[in-house]
Amino acid sequence: MIPIFNEQAVLPLLFHRLDRVLADLDGPAEVILVDDGSTDCSPIILEARAKTDARYRFIGLSRNFGQQLAMTAGLDEAQGDAVILMDADLQDPPEVIHQLIEKWAEGFEIVYARRATRKGENWFKLTSASLFYKMMNRLASVEIPRNVGDFRLIDRKALDVFRAMREQDRFVRGMFAWVGFRQTAVEFHREERVAGETKWPIGKLVRLAISGVVGFSDAPLRFALWMGAGVSAVAMLYGSYVMVSRFFTANYVPGWASTIVVVAFLGGFNMLLTGVLGIYVGRIHNEVKRRPLYIVGKREGFETNAAAEAPARRSSAA
Ligand code: UDP
Ligand code: MG
Repeated sequence: MIPIFNEQAVLPLLFHRLDRVLADLDGPAEVILVDDGSTDCSPIILEARAKTDARYRFIGLSRNFGQQLAMTAGLDEAQGDAVILMDADLQDPPEVIHQLIEKWAEGFEIVYARRATRKGENWFKLTSASLFYKMMNRLASVEIPRNVGDFRLIDRKALDVFRAMREQDRFVRGMFAWVGFRQTAVEFHREERVAGETKWPIGKLVRLAISGVVGFSDAPLRFALWMGAGVSAVAMLYGSYVMVSRFFTANYVPGWASTIVVVAFLGGFNMLLTGVLGIYVGRIHNEVKRRPLYIVGKREGFETNAAAEAPARRSSAA
């Protein structure tokens, strides 16, 4: 299952590499291509592929919903006993699929591909990612593996649990960590993007990081509680000091400076904590609307194949 957003430059190469891997697989397989509202020629190329090649299926979302939802759309449609999630840009080499399947055959329900080396990613991205995962694993109730993207194999059992999780704000790799089951990793060397540019500018990455933290931890809310308690304690100490100097000492100076400092500090702090609350309330708001997670505009390659292959489950899907 592959999410695709404006990837026309990489698609021919992707199909070429995938076809070779598919040919080497033992059982039948399907490839679900989800177009995430691309504005280039990607949807046309994908749809044509699904029309001419029975192994490929195409889902076109009605607009850009973001990678997390595009992946969800594809996973919802996957028919196989196992599904593999990968990026379109060949940073996740399709050849690794063989290793993933090997581990699956050993009985693991989730096999993620860990990046032993990463090419084409700058220092900033690597450090910020590493910091993020360190923080996540402190805060969150589940351990999210390091140096692991979305490239992974998921068994039907784990997939069915995932499909029952209909939360709006998604951090897919966190959700799979939460699901549990027997999980393991295979190592691979992450290549540079073969063509095109990253579809993840820094702003989007920050939003994903916030989704990750807020979706898997209520520590920021508890932080508000503890900080509130801490600041109140300090305020009480300071208050007693003020009282003592007011009533029992002679050097009482009407000080506006200290007042301003305290008021400004508390004001800023209140606003910060209201903001934290706001993030969670915003998510509740998002959730209670109960909108569909994504909207499918177009489908190709499903009906025709469904008739031919309905009784037997496909053994794997890329
Ligand atoms: N992608 C998507 N929707 C988006 C952004 C990205 O479906 O809004 C897809 C993209 O086409 C690619 C995958 O998600 O197949 C990963 O994106 P990218 O390679 O740009 O991310 P990076 O590897 O730089 O983190
Ligand atoms: Mg990439």
